[in-house]
Amino acid sequence: MMEGDRDYLILATTLLDKVGLEGYNELGIVSGEDLVHLEYGPLFNPHDFSVQRLGLPTLRPEEAREGLTYSVIASDFVSLDEGTGVVHIAPAFGEVDFDIGMSSGLEFVQPVDLEGKVTGTYTFAGRFVKDADPLILDDLRSRGLLYRSETIIHTYPFCWRCETPLLYYAKPAWYIRTTAAKGELISGNAEIDWYPDYIKRGRFGDWLKNNVDWAFSRERYWGTPLNIWRCSSCSNYQCVGSVDALRGQSDLSGLATPLDLHRPYVDALTFACPQCGGTMRRVPEVADCWFDSGAMPVAQWHYPFENEVVFKDSFPADLICEAVDQTRGWFYSLHALSTLLFGRPCFKTVISLGFLVDAQGKKMSKSKGNVVDPWPLLSSYGADALRLYMLVSTAGEDDHRFSTKRLGETIRRFLLTLWNTYSFFTLYANIDRFEPQRVTGDSSRQPVLTQMDSWISSELNRLTSDVSRSMDNYNPTAATRRIEGFVDKLSNWYVRRNRRRFWKSEDDADKLAAYATLYQCLVTLSQLLAPFVPFVAEGLYRNLVCSVDPGARESVHLTDFPVADEAKINDKLNSDVDLAMKISSLARAARARAGIKVRQPLARAVVEVKTEAEKKSLEALATEVMEEINVKQLVVLGEAEQGGEFPSDRPDHGVASDARYKVAISTALTPELVAEGVSRELVRHLQNMRRSATFAITDHIVTYYQTEEPLVKQVIGVFGGYIGQETLSDELIDGLPPAGAYGEKHRILNSEVSLAIRQADPES
Ligand SMILES: [Zn+2]
Ligand SMILES: [Zn+2]
Repeated sequence: MMEGDRDYLILATTLLDKVGLEGYNELGIVSGEDLVHLEYGPLFNPHDFSVQRLGLPTLRPEEAREGLTYSVIASDFVSLDEGTGVVHIAPAFGEVDFDIGMSSGLEFVQPVDLEGKVTGTYTFAGRFVKDADPLILDDLRSRGLLYRSETIIHTYPFCWRCETPLLYYAKPAWYIRTTAAKGELISGNAEIDWYPDYIKRGRFGDWLKNNVDWAFSRERYWGTPLNIWRCSSCSNYQCVGSVDALRGQSDLSGLATPLDLHRPYVDALTFACPQCGGTMRRVPEVADCWFDSGAMPVAQWHYPFENEVVFKDSFPADLICEAVDQTRGWFYSLHALSTLLFGRPCFKTVISLGFLVDAQGKKMSKSKGNVVDPWPLLSSYGADALRLYMLVSTAGEDDHRFSTKRLGETIRRFLLTLWNTYSFFTLYANIDRFEPQRVTGDSSRQPVLTQMDSWISSELNRLTSDVSRSMDNYNPTAATRRIEGFVDKLSNWYVRRNRRRFWKSEDDADKLAAYATLYQCLVTLSQLLAPFVPFVAEGLYRNLVCSVDPGARESVHLTDFPVADEAKINDKLNSDVDLAMKISSLARAARARAGIKVRQPLARAVVEVKTEAEKKSLEALATEVMEEINVKQLVVLGEAEQGGEFPSDRPDHGVASDARYKVAISTALTPELVAEGVSRELVRHLQNMRRSATFAITDHIVTYYQTEEPLVKQVIGVFGGYIGQETLSDELIDGLPPAGAYGEKHRILNSEVSLAIRQADPES
């Protein structure tokens, strides 16, 4: 308690320094408890300004009194971090204040009307409350009741549309007593499957546990009118349950023809009070629109008035999917109404999604300018690409940081890889007139599967099984990521390792096996992808299947989802090939470090693995690995040969390793290796030139070369057969090309080589 020249102030001891009183001395300390029930005079006695005081909770008017006093109450929400430790309570303005008013029997004083203007006979009456603030301060100051005024910055609600400051305003409203069904709400939730599962007991479970009654009336014009009528004479209420019940009321008047139960027509409907014969009028409120949303399962079928069968067939729903904020919105309103009406949940499974935010994780907002407009994205990338990116890049439950850059990466990594594989297949399948039906129909022409065919088929069936399981677990992100991994293996290992089987000229069982295998992969992929990229999948399916099989279902979306053939799954082979791919990528890293291109053949690679089983696996795939990393010999060191034999520090070897494996490549080049490398380089140049000259992939050509470098001539002599086969060159001619041939100059072995190509004569 502080003593000044002409007054005393009471404030919390811990806040004394913060308040910074000047000209006051401490008089003594009283405990807060001793202040409770102390009477004090209000700053404004409402009765002096013609404002009513209503008793809580009855809202009965209290008699007018001069010299009105209020009494001090104690409460634990008063903060000792700011202010004075003394808080003024106004039950008409704010939930906390109202609750304290109800529990402590305070009075309810409402000196503000619904336009936010001060009522009564105050000097500032008729003003908007925010405009009255300075006048109120002037009034207090003039009466010596103001010690100090200052501006405090704090959060405050504003109208989102016109930015008018809003007022908390206590008003009577209609409630649904959901708290009476709290136990059922909670036990019903126990039957629902939530994805992610932690929402069930967490965000949604907590919301149910702390359930409060549903304030479901709204004072708006637009909305579903409450079907409650009140007698203007005896205050009898009647809730009318149907149009028939309404028509059955006596002295019904104002029923619109044709029937219209919206405002304003419904407001004109009156009937006689069954209690006293007075006039029943509808209450003015409409329903909270969440009530309409929650009524969806019954309202969509106009149940129970009709469609009983179709309603019962579709209730409860299998799945609902919305963002996590709907735990207090639609998830709740559906669950609450269903529990109240039927005593059970109206959905079996929920997928709850995170929010879409900008690439930095910030909420998108127009004022910040970080909103991503979906239309340009859809125009330039397509709906499937956007959809796939959303699914594959972030687990649904997490907030999705939207990045156009990552959208582009997903397309390149996933969709374009898939599309290139598909284009590769169709290009050669068209050239060879591959007919998929004949593979199954014609027993005289059966494909002979290679180990790689069996492997990709095993991977495909493993994929089918994994995707089905992920989808059964409502996890499209795991499913699409799994498909992406398969597309990578299909393109970057199966197709790349087996390209020659498609373009070789022999039309044999081996080629047929390659076609049949890749065809099966692509058709199954179109079906697995159908739920995620419906348009791309349909494009693949219709061209791959419908164009060659008139009896096929006309859309991928009409086919059954693939079922894995477990007999074709060989997990051992899958992991062996994974190991081969891992080792190959380390070998490429070792080459890159040594600055030697993959085209240049090398004498050997030495690989150190951890176990004898891994050694055996890798040795079984040695041919594949040697071809892939372009070495003549593969030495695999297993458990028994750890340490000593691996050429770690030899200058003629380049090394790369990860936590488990080590790979060394020999970097010494013999003249034979150099010559073979040159032949490969020539092939690569000629193949690029074929593309630049826009020759068809099946066109045979004649190749011309001129160079001063004898070694290049020698290479063409020795490797002529190989170069001719790879580039479809019928002849390799040392000399000037004819006019009209397509020519380029290249540097090989530090000397200039002129190359030229022309289409071969048809008769040759
Ligand atoms: Zn507004
Ligand atoms: Zn009545």
